Amino acid sequence: MPRKPLMAGNWKMNKTIAEAVVLSQDISNNFERDWLDAADVLVCPPYVDLKPVKTVFEFDKLDIAIGAQNVYWEESGAYTGEISIPMLSEIGCTYCIVGHSERRTLFGETNEDVNRKVDALTKAHINPIVCVGESTAVRESGKTREFVCAQVEAAFAGIEPEEARGSVVAYEPLWAIGTGRTATPEQAQEVCASIRATLADLFGADFADETRVLYGGSMNPGNVEMLLAQPDIDGGLVGGASLQATSFIQLVKACL
Ligand code: PEP
Repeated sequence: MPRKPLMAGNWKMNKTIAEAVVLSQDISNNFERDWLDAADVLVCPPYVDLKPVKTVFEFDKLDIAIGAQNVYWEESGAYTGEISIPMLSEIGCTYCIVGHSERRTLFGETNEDVNRKVDALTKAHINPIVCVGESTAVRESGKTREFVCAQVEAAFAGIEPEEARGSVVAYEPLWAIGTGRTATPEQAQEVCASIRATLADLFGADFADETRVLYGGSMNPGNVEMLLAQPDIDGGLVGGASLQATSFIQLVKACL
């Protein structure tokens, strides 16, 4: 069965509640419900916007999913500043980004942290979107595939295939995120194919076949078609271009 594409917007630390409501209404007003037969669509706003954004989509009876950009693996307790999985579940999050490169580089998130988050999310039936990707230095050293596949292995270490089902992997080369410099379709395809091969080694060919691998890194309406034309790219994780309804909708339409 062909994989259903997923177009996911990562709003990062953008949009107050009022702004998030305007953007989600703008998306909703320009969205055709039957697009969701052909593609899954997800937005990942900041925590405080999750409920208001969900309310907009629910009011319009539009099945656009909402997801968080991060989570902590403990259920509750003295973890000042953190948000738990039950909190995300209660709001209706069905996805959570894990190990985004900004969290790894700016906030010191390690492969072990990513693994604990993936483990806790999959047990709670929230689909992790596991972000992996190499720096310029790694790419120049010729070790991109080795590096990225090691990140995938670390993220899923010790996790059972039945639990991991529904997980998504996003290949996001660090040098392409927010820079306007996109990986060529060939570069992106090469790494996404290696990610799928790693998933096959970990969990078997059927699992790898049904698991979505996204590309992220300056995806925009001008380059989306070429990227999505690659056999191992099943959608996008998009920052900048997801902050405006017009460009996000163009990306969604490219999946149809
Ligand atoms: C991202 O933040 O995951 C991302 C890919 O950002 P941008 O699309 O802005 O490069």
